[in-house]
Amino acid sequence: MLDVADAEALICNRVQALGARTIPLAQACGSVLRETIVAERDQPPFDRVTMDGIAIAYRDWQAGVREFEILGTQAAGAPPMTLAGPKQCVEIMTGAMLPIGADTVIPVERITRQNSCMQIESNYAAAEKQFVHPRGSDRQDGSVLLEPGIVLGPPEIAIVAGAGRAALRVAVQPRVAVISTGDELIEPGQAVQPHQIRSSNDLAIAAALERHCNAVVTRALLKDERDQMLARIRKLHDDNDALILSGGVSMGKFDFVPGVLERLGVELVFHKIEQRPGRPMWFGISRDGKPVFALPGNPVSTLVCLYRYVLPAIRHALGQAPSAEEVVRLAEAVQFEPDLTYFLPVSLTWAHGGGALAQSRPTNTSGDFVSLANTTGFVELPRGTDNYPARFAARLFRW
Ligand code: AMP
Ligand code: MG
Repeated sequence: MLDVADAEALICNRVQALGARTIPLAQACGSVLRETIVAERDQPPFDRVTMDGIAIAYRDWQAGVREFEILGTQAAGAPPMTLAGPKQCVEIMTGAMLPIGADTVIPVERITRQNSCMQIESNYAAAEKQFVHPRGSDRQDGSVLLEPGIVLGPPEIAIVAGAGRAALRVAVQPRVAVISTGDELIEPGQAVQPHQIRSSNDLAIAAALERHCNAVVTRALLKDERDQMLARIRKLHDDNDALILSGGVSMGKFDFVPGVLERLGVELVFHKIEQRPGRPMWFGISRDGKPVFALPGNPVSTLVCLYRYVLPAIRHALGQAPSAEEVVRLAEAVQFEPDLTYFLPVSLTWAHGGGALAQSRPTNTSGDFVSLANTTGFVELPRGTDNYPARFAARLFRW
């Protein structure tokens, strides 16, 4: 059987890259950038005034001038005025281009108007070039602002807009089929018999895919019935980029999923990982090169396998650059006897003096998903010991 890291590597090596598309910037938040964004112009594109006030020549100030003749008013968005001679100023607004011949701004709070002149407060001390954001001081024309692989969030949207780009290349939205299997499963909203249970995995998987992978999800609920499974899974495979199944991968008499997938020509890459929960996880690649993840049906197992393996694999296929691993310390010692990697639900608390601590929030069984309410995610406790002391550093996976 495989270790967690081996399973992760096998998936990463076998999952193929997905394509890119051009979309309007206004729709790009959450997508993976698939091109390099360069500065359209110097940033800022001109010497930008950062204070409402007057623009003067510092050499006048140095020569002792404290009263300036007003040449006119220049708002943001107006072409620059020109200081024609000494002792002149332009009334200037934040965001305006520095007038030609001016290099220093005196704030409006420090001046008073006397007819056609501005007088500066007697005890005010000005510094040369104050309240000017110099052209090109943030980035030069043509310099790289964003690299491919980044997930576009609000700051990146602003940066792309600042580069003048109304459309850009991003990863496609992956089409993912989420398939629940089990004769006992009933959708929320439909009448449920005492011997039936609500299907919750598919909705949780779809929510995670939409939140973390910008995916377009098709859900399907299948009976534990071989022929129906064969036909439905074949069609869902053809219409999607990836398949995620839950349920039916263990040793039960009606656990048909591995057999059906193999009959559909999906190559088995691995079945079972040395971990709890989620030991029976199955992974394969279809003849068309599409990844097929079959997760055990117990809801805690499903979510742990999804977050530990499936979501990172899809993000990798989208071209997303790997993010730094988040590591937290255990608030208290944890005992775990089996020689398996242990995925333990936690909620974060804050230590005195700063830093996050992971408070253990074990579920009763891998079927007890109700206990996941208000957890942050889970930590990965590697196999090889049965005692993880307080302050043990563990990798965190957030929901
Ligand atoms: P299985 O992996 O098919 O043996 O299922 C293990 C347990 O998970 C059983 O108690 C199932 O009823 C439950 N289960 C399977 N699929 C789902 C689902 N879609 N939603 C909620 N529970 C499920
Ligand atoms: Mg089942």
